[in-house]
Amino acid sequence: MYQYDHILYHPNTICRTCQSPKPARSKHCSICQECIPTLDHHCIWINACVSQSNLIYFDSLLLVNFVSLFYVSVRSGLLIKSLNQNFVTFLKYSSSDKTALISNFKTVRKNLLTLFLLAFCFLLVMTWFVYTQINLIMDGMSSNESDKWFAIHSLIYDHFIYKIDNKYYVITEDSKNDGTFNKFNSINFYDGKTYSFNQSMENYLVESPEQIVNIYDKGSFIDNLKERWCL
Ligand SMILES: [Zn+2]
Ligand SMILES: [Zn+2]
Repeated sequence: MYQYDHILYHPNTICRTCQSPKPARSKHCSICQECIPTLDHHCIWINACVSQSNLIYFDSLLLVNFVSLFYVSVRSGLLIKSLNQNFVTFLKYSSSDKTALISNFKTVRKNLLTLFLLAFCFLLVMTWFVYTQINLIMDGMSSNESDKWFAIHSLIYDHFIYKIDNKYYVITEDSKNDGTFNKFNSINFYDGKTYSFNQSMENYLVESPEQIVNIYDKGSFIDNLKERWCL
C-alpha cells in the first residue's frame, strides 16, 4: 500500500462511480467497472487493466513484440533487397521457363513487401509504446499519473497553484481575474469546498513544477523499475 501524496491522491476519498475507498495510486476503470490499485491503464490489446500486478508481464510482452517486429522488418527488408539484386543474374543463367520464373518472383516479392510493410508499421507503433513506458519509468509514474501531472503542470505554468500551510490549492478563475486572489479550491477535486486566506498570496505561488515532488519517484530508472515490477 502506498502513502497518499496529498497532490494526486488524498485519504478518505470515495470513488464517485463504484463508491469504494480509493487507495493511493488507484484509478477507477470504466471498462472493468472497479477501482484498480496502482492502475496504469486499461489495455485494449489484452483487454485487461495493466497495474503493478501484471506490469512485469506487460513490459515483457512489449519487449518481445518490439524485438520480433524489429527482426522481421530487417530480415524481410534485406531479403527483398537481395532478391532484387540477384534475380536478374539468376534469370540470365537459368534455362527454365523465364515467364514462369518472373511470375513467381513477382509473387514472392509482393508477399515479402506486404510482410515488411506490416511488420514495419507495427514496429513504429511498438517503438512509441516502448518509448512512452521508458519515459514513465524514468519519471516514476504510471500512465494515469502522467495525465494527472500534465494537468497540474499546466495549472502551474498558468499560475493557478498555491502552496499554503503545506497544502496545495488552486485559485479560482474569478478570484484571479478580478485581482482579489482570495478564493481557492483544494487541489483535491473531491473536496468541493472554497477557501479564503487573509495573508497576501504572492509568496505562496508555485512557480515551477520542480517545486512539487512526486513522492512515488524513487530517483533512478533501476529503482523505479524494481518498484514497478514489485521486485
Ligand atoms: Zn471506482
Ligand atoms: Zn480495466
